[in-house]
This record gives sequence, C-alpha cells and structure tokens, in this order.
Amino acid sequence: MNILEHMQTNGHEQLVVCSDPAGGLKAFIAIHDTTLGPACGGVRIWPHASEDDAIVDVLRLSRAMTYKSAAAGLAFGGGKGLIMADPRTEKNEALLRAFGRCVDSLGGRYYTTEDVGMKPEDLLHIARETRYVLGLPPDMGGSGDTSPLTGLGVYLGMKAAAASIWGSDNLRGKMVAMQGFGNVARQTAAHLLEEDVRLTVTDLNEDAIKEARSLGAAIVRPEEIYDVDADIFSPCALGGILNDETIPRLNVALVAGGANNQLLEPRHGEALRKRGIVYAPDYIINAGGIIQVACEAAHESQGGTIAERARAKTEEIYATTQQVLAISRECDMPTSDAADSLAEQRLQQARDERRNAA
Ligand code: NAD
Repeated sequence: MNILEHMQTNGHEQLVVCSDPAGGLKAFIAIHDTTLGPACGGVRIWPHASEDDAIVDVLRLSRAMTYKSAAAGLAFGGGKGLIMADPRTEKNEALLRAFGRCVDSLGGRYYTTEDVGMKPEDLLHIARETRYVLGLPPDMGGSGDTSPLTGLGVYLGMKAAAASIWGSDNLRGKMVAMQGFGNVARQTAAHLLEEDVRLTVTDLNEDAIKEARSLGAAIVRPEEIYDVDADIFSPCALGGILNDETIPRLNVALVAGGANNQLLEPRHGEALRKRGIVYAPDYIINAGGIIQVACEAAHESQGGTIAERARAKTEEIYATTQQVLAISRECDMPTSDAADSLAEQRLQQARDERRNAA
C-alpha cells in the first residue's frame, strides 16, 4: 500500500512504527490529528494477517477517534495503538512494557488506554513505563471501567433519536434487538429495563446469553438478530455490521448501539436513510468512555470529581444527538454525514482560532 498517500488523503499527521525484538513487540501508533489536543485512543492487540492490514486498521481507527472526540467537544485529538499479536497466546509483561516505552517516547503526543484484546491489568504493565496512560483502575489513580458511561451515552442517544421518530423519548413498551451482550450492552440494557423496554438479545458467549435470559430477554441465534421484528436495533458487538446484506433485512425504525464503526462503508449511512431507518451515529452516542478518560486527563485543571464531570458531559450526548439529527434534516444528508460535518466544523473552528492567535 502507498502509506503516505493514504495518510495525506485522510489527513493523518504521524504513523509510528514500534519494534522491540527483545520484548517481541511489533506495533504501530497512529496519530491522526492533534488540532484539539493530544491524540488519545486505546491500544488494540490483534494478530492481523499482514502489516498492511494492521496499518490500514490503526489509521482508520485513529481517524475515527479524532471525529469522536471533536463531536463530543473534548480537548483530545485522535490516536490509536495497535500491537500485532494474539492476545490469548502472545500477550505478556515484556511486550506491554515495550509498548509503554514506545508511548513514552512520544512525550505526551499520544495517550493510550484499553481496547480490544486488553484487560485492566495489561494497562498496569504499560503504566510502569509511561505516565501517558488513562483509564487505569481507581486504586491506581485512574478513572476505571468506562463501560457504565458508554452504556449511559448509548441509552441517552437512543432516547434522543427515538423522540425524533415517535414524538416522545419514552421507550416504555418498545422492543430493542441487541447484538452482543457484553460490558456496554449490559449497561445500556440496565437503563432500558428500568424503562420497561422488551429486549431480544443475541451473543456468541453462553454466559452472556444466560445473563440476558435471567433479565427476561428473548434470545435468538446470532444470524437471526437482523431479522427480528423490533423498534430499535442496537449493535453492541462488532463493526461493519450495517452493510448491503444486512440493511435490507432490518425491520426496525432506529439503529442505536455502542459498537464502533457500525457502517461497513460511508455509503451505508445513505442506504439506511433510503430505507427510512434513523441511524444514531455510533461515535456520537458511544462517546461516554472517551469522555471519561478526557475528564481524567483534565482533572487537575478542573473542579469536581472525575465521575461527576464525566457524567455531566456524557449527558450532553442527548443534545449532541439532537443536533446531528437536525443537521441531517436541514442539509438533507444521512445522519452519519451530519455527524462528520459537526466534527469537521469543530476542528475547523479550532484551526481558525489557532491561525488568528498566531
Ligand atoms: P465486550 O467484549 O464486553 O462485549 C462484546 C460482546 O459481543 C461479547 O459478549 C461477545 O461474545 C459478543 N459478540 C461478538 N461477536 C458477536 C456476534 N457476531 N454476534 C453476537 N455477539 C457477538 O465488549 P464491549 O466493551 O461491550 O464493547 C462492545 C462494542 O462497543 C465494541 O465494538 C467496542 O469497540 C465498542 N465500544 C466500547 C466502549 C467501552 O467503553 N467499553 C466504548 C466505545 C465503544
């Protein structure tokens, strides 16, 4: 692949190649855009088949983080780490500490946190080598598990979008089909169940299914989730699940979930709109986690506890979702494009302010 051309086309600032033969580390750190602040995004541990696949992934994920933080009004740029390794068999202290040294060498241009393939204790190994780590457990001075606030934001974004369809954000009696019943889905579901929503759930994991069943959810097989007759489809597992094959099958009025990168391609935002399905853009409503770590990073310069500030900021997701829906209506564009335009507006404003101040 032509890496520099790809980076220039998509506005990337930097790609760091990390190698530590002794620690077995092969990793990349992508810094997409630092207009709004230092780059922040989790480090993913995944055994990509090739370096090209890993580079495309880390670049794409870092760009998504720029948009997510910008739309949420955070003082963070977009970044992402990617360690090329199998998290089940190749993850160890030496590997994680080597990655920590690489993060440290960037002197605070990139803050790392947890992502796919990571556990909280893994972050502790990284933190032995660098202070540019967020989301550590509370007893280590961090703000801890981000899924409660991510789940709250997904719930509030879902309500804001529901109001645009049904004239009220009251979800009582609505049927929600959830794909995946992991950390974020369980937190979202807890809010939904308080409002007497009926749930249909699928997951690959038997324990997750057992828990959903114990909460009164109906269970379907993974492939059946797209065909469920429901009001809302809530993707809370994988990316790329809104595509040419699944969109025609959906039998819902709203898609609102916690998974990252739900649209397989940008054009699938328009495909949903054509089918009359409202899409609450993923990075608008799943921003609770990055909001929490941003509040942790800014803690020393701001009052209140991290938890209070993060909750208040996460509650703004309701209004941000309304704003995105309004842009979509006014500009006659898919909600996914409306979200991008809101994020780009904030980035442009910051660039203009910087230029005027210079
Ligand atoms: P998790 O691993 O706790 O849960 C994911 C669940 O999805 C698991 O139970 C898994 O078995 C299930 N699953 C995987 N493939 C499936 C399939 N094909 N069909 C049905 N179920 C499937 O992860 P999580 O932390 O809940 O994150 C879920 C999604 O939300 C991810 O896309 C993640 O990137 C995104 N996200 C998480 C956070 C956060 O704070 N944790 C923040 C923003 C976005």
